[in-house]
Amino acid sequence: MATETLAGAGAAGGDTNNKVSSENCAEEKLRWTLSDFDIGKPLGRGKFGHVYLAREKKSNHIVALKVLFKSQLKQSQVEHQLRREVEIQSHLRNPNILRLYGYFYDQTRVYLILEYAAKGELYKELQKCKYFSEKRAATYVASLARALIYCHGKHVIHRDIKPENLLIGAQGELKIADFGWSVHTFNRRRTMCGTLDYLPPEMVESVEHDASVDIWSLGVLCYEFLYGMPPFEAKEHSDTYRRIVKVDLKFPPKPIVSASAKDLISQMLVKDSSLRLPLHKLLEHPWIVQNADPSGIYRG
Ligand code: AMP
Repeated sequence: MATETLAGAGAAGGDTNNKVSSENCAEEKLRWTLSDFDIGKPLGRGKFGHVYLAREKKSNHIVALKVLFKSQLKQSQVEHQLRREVEIQSHLRNPNILRLYGYFYDQTRVYLILEYAAKGELYKELQKCKYFSEKRAATYVASLARALIYCHGKHVIHRDIKPENLLIGAQGELKIADFGWSVHTFNRRRTMCGTLDYLPPEMVESVEHDASVDIWSLGVLCYEFLYGMPPFEAKEHSDTYRRIVKVDLKFPPKPIVSASAKDLISQMLVKDSSLRLPLHKLLEHPWIVQNADPSGIYRG
């Protein structure tokens, strides 16, 4: 069945460039091409190209097709990063991680076949609401913690958790969407990456880091969900940098946030990365237990 073809493409021996015909699984491998898809409305514009709603013709499977221009990828020297992103994301299977079904390319463009996130960008939702209720924030944080536990179990560190990299699926579930800065690793790393506001002290200071960078970023995200702005925000980059390194964490009086939420954030935003609350403990924290919907879906 063609649906299985699309869904199984990433799983076919990890070769995301090929689709496997289920009628002749053993031998026949076909490349995806643009003619396999009906192209629909534009969903958005990114730094390197456009994203369109699309339908795979044989299966009627709805996807998001991301079209990237090779010239721009080359100019920005991100081909290697894209390759890594595709390699990592195509192997991940978790309800809170956006599926990457496969890719193909022509002379000028690279196409990524992505799961369609029907409710769009979390960032816009947060802008609209200014900040989220504790129940909504806790539901999202718990679902992301579960997705990150899954990634870390596969030795994948995301390294760029922030609202702009999160999409919302049809049921209202969060989907981690951008693995551009992620890394598959068994060692501690030194690279500086991600956006300043969400960077942990060890990355700001370019010392070695490990999977606990994602605990820090999830703490920053939890704060932004509840207060509508990241905790170390400042006018100048240098001030944000200084506030992160000092862990200059302050909780404004408004909006009113429970002591339990603040306790959780304080246990995640810890300078010594080995002392950050492990993600499985986060799931047992009273604030999560009392507020998060176990389904991972926020129902308004
Ligand atoms: P990006 O190039 O990944 O930044 O994507 C540009 C925009 O396209 C995003 O900000 C979203 O609004 C939209 N978009 C990207 N991927 C998807 C997707 N899988 N499902 C729905 N919308 C998407």
